[in-house]
Amino acid sequence: MRLQIKDKKRIVFKVGTSTLTHEETGAVDLVKMEKFVRILTDLHNQGKEIVVVSSGAISVGRKALSLKERPQERSMKQACAAVGQIRLMTVYQKLFSEYNQNTAQILMTKVTIANDTSRHNAQNTFRELLNMGVIPIVNENDTVATDEIDFGDNDYLSSIVSAIVKADLLVLLSDIDGLYTDDPNKNKDAKLIPLVERITDEMLEMAKGPASDVGTGGMSSKLGAAGIANDAGADMIIINGDDMENLNKLLAGEEIGTLFTAHKTRHFHLKNYLDR
Ligand code: GLU
Repeated sequence: MRLQIKDKKRIVFKVGTSTLTHEETGAVDLVKMEKFVRILTDLHNQGKEIVVVSSGAISVGRKALSLKERPQERSMKQACAAVGQIRLMTVYQKLFSEYNQNTAQILMTKVTIANDTSRHNAQNTFRELLNMGVIPIVNENDTVATDEIDFGDNDYLSSIVSAIVKADLLVLLSDIDGLYTDDPNKNKDAKLIPLVERITDEMLEMAKGPASDVGTGGMSSKLGAAGIANDAGADMIIINGDDMENLNKLLAGEEIGTLFTAHKTRHFHLKNYLDR
């Protein structure tokens, strides 16, 4: 099964705030981003089609505005995202352009998906970009999203994007090695689960723990993302993004992380997955 990962053609990579930024300051981790961009460009050079779903806007904005704490108030988060998103994209643009790799920014809200016309438009845009060899970089449009229309976290958004672009694989770069039988921070006997063919109630119960301080998605949002991506026909894998070499290992067929296998639902309608 792991060797089949090598042959995946259209891949969505979701990278979280805790992977892209320094925990203490919230500023961009340039060394990691540099590696991430280089590996993605190389995968693209091998003929893969790549989409990135990147968090980090709020954290980078927070740093730029010299705020000590992560903002709690929505308007403040939105202001930070507005400042941070452009900075984040500037870094991506700079790094990708060193390899002459075109990128694009796509910002979405739930309304983009719920509305048939805008969903088709988004789908067409992704198609054109991928056909032209561009790497789209997606984030939630945090500055306009409200409680009613936001995705809430980028794990969820990345699974929606996988469905829209009909990806073969969704890779979640996380701050943990994968799904464990128990919380590995509390239970040293917790074991990594390498393969999940069906998400069980037991897994959902176990995943209820809190999310990390900087990102918004915990393990339960990752299981939710797997539910959507797998139904849409994409395998999903959680790997640890602390070491970007894991991406090369994964694509070489090594057994790292947790693989959730696709089980395409015959009548998959994305709109049925928007209420949560
Ligand atoms: N869209 C948010 C940001 O860019 C992050 C959401 C998430 O981490 O799940 O800061």
